[in-house]
Amino acid sequence: MGRTILPNFDENNEPLSSRITTGLHKIGLAMKQQAWQQANEEGVSATQGQIVAALATHGALTGSELSQRLGVTLPTISDSVRVLVDKKLVTKSPDARHPRASLLTLTRRGAQLGARARSWPEFMAAAVADLTAEEQRAFFSGVVKMVRMLQEQGLVPLSGMCVTCTHFRPNVRTGAAPHQCAFVNAPLANDQVRLDCPEHELAAEVTRTELWKQFLRPA
Ligand code: SF4
Repeated sequence: MGRTILPNFDENNEPLSSRITTGLHKIGLAMKQQAWQQANEEGVSATQGQIVAALATHGALTGSELSQRLGVTLPTISDSVRVLVDKKLVTKSPDARHPRASLLTLTRRGAQLGARARSWPEFMAAAVADLTAEEQRAFFSGVVKMVRMLQEQGLVPLSGMCVTCTHFRPNVRTGAAPHQCAFVNAPLANDQVRLDCPEHELAAEVTRTELWKQFLRPA
C-alpha cells in the first residue's frame, strides 16, 4: 500500500497574517450583524444605538464629541440625533462650554435604551471567556497594537486609550505593573491598559509618538 502524503500546510496555506485578517473579518461581520439585529429589535438604527450607548457611558456630549468618540461623520451624527430627539430618547440643551453647540442628554427612556445598547457587544464575552488567561493576555496585547496602528491611519478614533493619553506614563518601573496613570496616580499592568477610558485626555501628536515608543520599550 502506498504511503499517504500529508499536505504541506506551510506551502499551501495562506500566511498566518492573512488568516488572522480573515478571522477578524468574520468577527467584524458577526458584530455588525448583531448590532443591526439588536438595534432593529429596539426600533432604532445601529448608529442611533451607538449614540445612546455612548451617552449612557460618558454622560452628556456634543455632536462633535460623539463624532470623535464613535468615528462617525458629524452629518451622520446630526441625522441620527434628529431622529432620537423626535423619538424623545434624547434632548438638546445649550452647552455652557461652547456657546454655539448643543449638549445631548438621554431622557429617562433613552437612558433605559442606552443601558441595553451598552450590552449589545456582550455576545462576544462568552467567546473571549473561552480563551485561557495567557491567550487573553496575548490577544489583548495584539488588539492594543492593532488599534494603535488603525488610529495612526485615521480609521479608529484617538479617544479613550491609555497609550494616547496625556496622563499615561509608560514603563516607568520594572515588575508586573510597569506603567502609571498620573490621573489617579495608580500603577497599570500591560493587561490593565484601557481602551475606552472616560478620563482620557488626548496628548499632543509628538507626545503620542513618544508614549508609544516608551510603551514598546520596557524599562
Ligand atoms: S486617565 Fe484613563 S486613559 Fe488616561 S492614563 Fe489614566 S486610565 Fe489611561
